[in-house]
Amino acid sequence: MLQVFRNHKAIAFGRCLKATARFCHALVFPHQCMKCRVLLDPGTAAPHTVQACFCKTCLSMGLPLFAPPFCPRCGLQFATGENHLCEACLKRLPRIHQVRAALSYQGLVKDILPLFKYQARLSLTRFFEPLMFDAFSLFFEKADIHRILPIPLHARKVRQRGFNQSFLLVRRFSKTYASIHGVQPLWQVDTTSLKRDRYTSSQTGLDVAVRRKNLKNAFQVTDPAAVKDCNILLVDDVYTTGATCGEAARMLLAAGANRVDVLVLARA
Ligand SMILES: [Zn+2]
Ligand SMILES: [Zn+2]
Repeated sequence: MLQVFRNHKAIAFGRCLKATARFCHALVFPHQCMKCRVLLDPGTAAPHTVQACFCKTCLSMGLPLFAPPFCPRCGLQFATGENHLCEACLKRLPRIHQVRAALSYQGLVKDILPLFKYQARLSLTRFFEPLMFDAFSLFFEKADIHRILPIPLHARKVRQRGFNQSFLLVRRFSKTYASIHGVQPLWQVDTTSLKRDRYTSSQTGLDVAVRRKNLKNAFQVTDPAAVKDCNILLVDDVYTTGATCGEAARMLLAAGANRVDVLVLARA
């Protein structure tokens, strides 16, 4: 009888400790909206869902997924109709085979991407990663991709920023794939075969021609043998004019890559 009482006492003490730990964790790391930092109800939403990451007011700005109708080559989205080649791709087919995205660069996405990239709100990674993996599975699972290359930053920019946002988006891709499929993927995330040789200041606000000129020869393929005859998937945070990915694709194709596709977090 005394033993049973002691066991109950131990279990109750354990529960009390756990509850205290949860309370302390909530005090130190309260659930906050990732954009406006208002406190969220820690209750019901499953982790990594939009409801667990953003408050209702911020969510009302819209967080649209990348979805048809779009241009099958450059991924430009249309308001209505069926998927069709856009005017620019009809005039001149781009080097990049297909551009696809997780999100459309509208509403809340426009606000949270700069927070991620320029203000190092890296907790957003846990929200972006599954979206990127879903988009990858949807658009590229059967595309026979060999290597996934996050667009590299110049070493000086990595030192300034402390991280490469494109790499963070795919850092856990192999682990996620293995946990879903029970086998290792046939592709690999490759952060060494492409390097950024030239330092370029921010391209935001510049027109296409100036961006292209600034980026000319900015990349170097450090290991041509690794990309030769490969199908490459370039990964970047946002695709607007396509100047950055276009220039990286030019260098990869010149080095013997078979095909270059692009997956971005948000397509403008
Ligand atoms: Zn909010
Ligand atoms: Zn197009």
